[in-house]
Amino acid sequence: MNNNLKHLIELQKIDSRLLDITDLRGDLPIKVEELADQLAKAKENFKGNEERINDITASIKKETNAIEDASSKLEKLKNQLYLVKSNKEYDALNFEIDHLKESISESENVILDLEEEKENINKENESYKSNIDDATKDLGEKNTELELAMSKTEKEESDLNKNRIKIVDQIDNKLVSTYNRLRKTKDGLGIVNIMSNACGACYTQLPRQTIIEVKNSIDVISCPNCSTYLFFDEELS
Ligand SMILES: [Zn+2]
Repeated sequence: MNNNLKHLIELQKIDSRLLDITDLRGDLPIKVEELADQLAKAKENFKGNEERINDITASIKKETNAIEDASSKLEKLKNQLYLVKSNKEYDALNFEIDHLKESISESENVILDLEEEKENINKENESYKSNIDDATKDLGEKNTELELAMSKTEKEESDLNKNRIKIVDQIDNKLVSTYNRLRKTKDGLGIVNIMSNACGACYTQLPRQTIIEVKNSIDVISCPNCSTYLFFDEELS
């Protein structure tokens, strides 16, 4: 048998087994990745909200101090009202008192708005917190599942990959690159057995001459219809 052909058949066995191993893991690796993304996003949102709460708390403190300052000034001015001697002075004091009252009321409104925002953010963070808890739990479970699935096949997979490299080295580059290209479009198949005189990939009946050439195993022959490489093994047919 042609050496390239022999090694292509071995390569296909390895690749089919590798594909089976990947299938066994199913969508676990994707789920793990999705959950990790979800978790990272929830944590980021949670942290952003906490930073905003810190800012709000600082602003509330600032406004509270402003109110205290204004209130004590207001008290002093109110006391001075009893001591004034002219209408002009009285009006000036009242003007200042009104101004202070206004600024106190403004600060009070700002605080109310900030408190409301803080309350909403806290509610939002409660829901992020439960998302984070759920995602952490799910991620832990899925990770364990994945590790278990991988531990069963890890050694086999690494042996197969090592073998694969050795075999690929023994096949003409051009054949390997065609084989790899075929595998991408043919469900992982680059070389298939002839079954009932038909191509094992596209099931087209093969010309007599092609069948004879494949059975001779002197050259690497492609299916005239789908280009997949062909071999013949009676036991598999
Ligand atoms: Zn075919």
